[in-house]
Amino acid sequence: MLNIDAIHMREINMPLAHPFETSFGVTTGRRILLIELESESLTAWGECVAGEHPYFSDETIDTAWLMIENELGPSLLDANVERGGSCPDIFRQVRGHRMAKAALENAVWDLEAQVENVPLAELLGGIRTVIPCGVSIGIQPSPAQLMKKIATELAAGYQRIKLKCKPGWDIKIFEAVRNRWPDITLSCDANSAYRMKDLDHIASWDQFNLLMIEQPLWYDDFYFHSMLQKRLTTDICLDESIRNRRDALAAIDMESCRIINIKVGRVGGFSEAIAVHNAAEERGIPVWCGGMLETGIGRSHNIALSSLPNFSLPGDVSASSRYWAEDIIEPAVTVSDKGEIVVPTAVGRGFEVQRDRIEALTVRRQTLHAKAHVTV
Ligand SMILES: [Mg+2]
Repeated sequence: MLNIDAIHMREINMPLAHPFETSFGVTTGRRILLIELESESLTAWGECVAGEHPYFSDETIDTAWLMIENELGPSLLDANVERGGSCPDIFRQVRGHRMAKAALENAVWDLEAQVENVPLAELLGGIRTVIPCGVSIGIQPSPAQLMKKIATELAAGYQRIKLKCKPGWDIKIFEAVRNRWPDITLSCDANSAYRMKDLDHIASWDQFNLLMIEQPLWYDDFYFHSMLQKRLTTDICLDESIRNRRDALAAIDMESCRIINIKVGRVGGFSEAIAVHNAAEERGIPVWCGGMLETGIGRSHNIALSSLPNFSLPGDVSASSRYWAEDIIEPAVTVSDKGEIVVPTAVGRGFEVQRDRIEALTVRRQTLHAKAHVTV
C-alpha cells in the first residue's frame, strides 16, 4: 500500500537548445507539467508530455493541468493505491486524457520502485543493461544544414537516424542522404502529413531502403495505413494511431504496420505501455521508444521502459544535451560512442532531480492534499 500524502503540480518553462521542426511547425521551448508525489519520507516524479498546442495529440499542458487538478489527482488521493499498476483502474472513469493519466501513473511507479527498493527498470520488467539509441532530426532550414546535423549525430555514435519529413521535404532529402551515406540505418517520420493521393509517391520511397516509414497518413487511422502497407516493401511504423493494447492488436491484425513506436504518455502510462509491448512481442512485432522532447524526468522513465526485451530497435531516447543547455536531473543522460545509454541499476529512476533548477524554472504551482486519514 502506497500512502500518497500530496500531489505537487508545477509548470516549468524550458528553452530548447535548438529549435525542433516537424510537419506541425517549429518548437523553440517547452512548457512542461511536472508531478511530484509526496509519500511519507519519499518523493517521486512524473512528467506530462502534452505540448503547448493540441497538434500531436488532442491534449495540451493546460487540459492536463485541469484534469489532474479536478479529476485525476483527487481520485488518486482518495484511492487505495497498491502499486503503479493500480492506476488504470483508479482513472477508468475518465475517458481519454492519457498524457495527464500517464504523468500521475508514472510517478506512482517511480514511488513504488523506491518503496520496493528496486530499479524502476526492473520493476517494469526490464532486462537490458544498455539501450540502443537513435536520433530524430527535425526539418532543417536547408539540405546542407541537415547533412551537417546528420554528420554530427553519426560522429556521436547514434545507431539510427530518423528524418522528420513532409511534402516537399522527402524524396530529394532521402536521395541526398543516401548518396552520402548508402548504408546507415535510416528512417523517416511524417507525423500524418500525407494523404491517399500520395500513395504512389510514398511507394517510391522503397528505393531508399528505409528501416521504416512512421505514421505517414492520418493520426487516427488503421485502415488506410493497411492499404498503403500492402503497396510497400518498407515497414510502416505507427505512432499517433496506437492509443492502447487493443489498437496495437487491431493494427497488427490488419497489417497497418509491422513496427510500433511506444510512447508512454500517448498510451496513458507504464501499465498500458507494457501491455502494448507484450501484445507486439507475442506477435513478433518489434517496438521502440519514441520521444516527446522530455526533460530528464520523462527521459529517465523512457530509459527504464526501453529496457524491456521487445524494445529491439533503437529508440528516440537520446542525450539530454541534444535538447537542453542544462537538464533538471543529475547526472544528465549521456550516450556512449557506441550509441548506447546505460540503464541505471540504482533504486528508483536512477537520476537525482535538481530541485534548485526546477524551482528557478517554475512559473505555476498547485498542491493537492490527501484528506486526513481517519482511523475507525
Ligand atoms: Mg512519430
